[in-house]
Amino acid sequence: MTVINDKFTVNTQGFSDIIDITQKVKHAVYSHSLQSAVVHVYVAGSTVSVTNIEFEPGLLVDLPEALEKFAPVEAVYHHDETWHDGNGYAHVRASIIGNSTMVPLIDGALQLGQWQQIVLVDFDNKARTRTVYVQIVY
Ligand code: ZN
Repeated sequence: MTVINDKFTVNTQGFSDIIDITQKVKHAVYSHSLQSAVVHVYVAGSTVSVTNIEFEPGLLVDLPEALEKFAPVEAVYHHDETWHDGNGYAHVRASIIGNSTMVPLIDGALQLGQWQQIVLVDFDNKARTRTVYVQIVY
């Protein structure tokens, strides 16, 4: 088993900013000319997520609206009472969505659906620079 570690950074605006990172992941993976691998995409941070979505205008509104029902920005959070950073909602949303996704590389191609993109969603209440790790196992 061999592991390749790659990474890139993404600048976000926070507040459920959804950024398509598919091309950056493809660039990291395809530069190695592999045929078969497990590609794990992970973002470090407790107020940010990596997931998949069809990157189209409707869903870019639908996803934040759905998460507003689960973890409203204006709700009272024990986290905020302790730390006073006002981003309890962001931590809860990031926990619900998760920090990583896995895409199989088969016959030299990432097996994403035709309308499936890999996105970073930054829930924090300020602009951030995030580091995305792409770990390729083959
Ligand atoms: Zn916090």
